[in-house]
Amino acid sequence: MREETKSGRTRKRGADSPAAVWKEKESLDGKVVDAGVIILQTTGCSHFHRGGCSMCGYNIGSTGNSEPSDISKQFTRAIEELGHVDMLKVYTSGSFLDEREVPIEQADRILRHCADSHTRLLFESRPEYVTQETLERVLGIHDGLELALGLESANDRVLKYSINKGFTVKDYDDAVRVLRGNRVDIRTYVLLKPPFLTEAEAVADAKATVAHAAEGSKTISLNPVNVQKGTFVEKLWRNWAYRTPWLWSVLDVIRASKDCGKRIVCDPTGGGKERGAHNCGKCDDVILDSIRGYSQTQDASRLGAPECDCREIWKSVVDLEGFVMGGTVDLQRFFRKQRA
Ligand SMILES: [Zn+2]
Repeated sequence: MREETKSGRTRKRGADSPAAVWKEKESLDGKVVDAGVIILQTTGCSHFHRGGCSMCGYNIGSTGNSEPSDISKQFTRAIEELGHVDMLKVYTSGSFLDEREVPIEQADRILRHCADSHTRLLFESRPEYVTQETLERVLGIHDGLELALGLESANDRVLKYSINKGFTVKDYDDAVRVLRGNRVDIRTYVLLKPPFLTEAEAVADAKATVAHAAEGSKTISLNPVNVQKGTFVEKLWRNWAYRTPWLWSVLDVIRASKDCGKRIVCDPTGGGKERGAHNCGKCDDVILDSIRGYSQTQDASRLGAPECDCREIWKSVVDLEGFVMGGTVDLQRFFRKQRA
């Protein structure tokens, strides 16, 4: 799960064009700077080809036909489009360190560009590609790095049965050890509400995962599940068997985690909409603004929340869902559809 999918930007199709490019604000060493976001088209996440994660739709449209030389062309085009930025976030929908996805020569070119232009680089990788050998190669070219790891949950059962993540908490911990040994800053993604968890279980799982991730990370990105096209989660959702998390739950996790000593960022993809984290529709925008305000400033006083009747409904769901066979998944959506 990633922050950038909120964009909804159209995907360009040509193999030598990046999937998407845009600028956004990012906090770097206590200052707000311009960051360029580049999504490269690659052959796709290796784990997707093995079945993939239950909530991830990033690879659904990937053709698997991209040529290594295309990656350089995509990157060059993106850089021209972006102009000067202080930070680059280069995403591949998989792992930047997976040589099958981003061949070494192409990865090195991107690293060299960042080294030459003194640009901080953030990229993502599954933990299995984070090895001492690979890091030595990467850091030999550019050491202004932040590496993002999608831990999602610090519970192996959730990783295996709810997400199908294809790695364990120990795999994440091992990668963290190697990264810290090389003084690389770590950003960890924490998922809120994978399928098959009640709202209360999901909140507890995310809180525990943030606490685990805080030990080794500089930044923690809390990502409420959004229903992406073509995913297993979408199938459940269409069958009234899944509801995305309430924004009250997102607030609850952030409030409980804000004193963990690490930066916590959250910008719910599709927030306020049926496919994203949402409340009743009346209080969503105010809460989303407060979450975004907190993410940028880390100022807990920004985490205000309006009084809204739906908070009582959320509380009832949290209290009772575990006792109801078959779940209470999303009766509001059901009845609203019936009335329409
Ligand atoms: Zn409300």
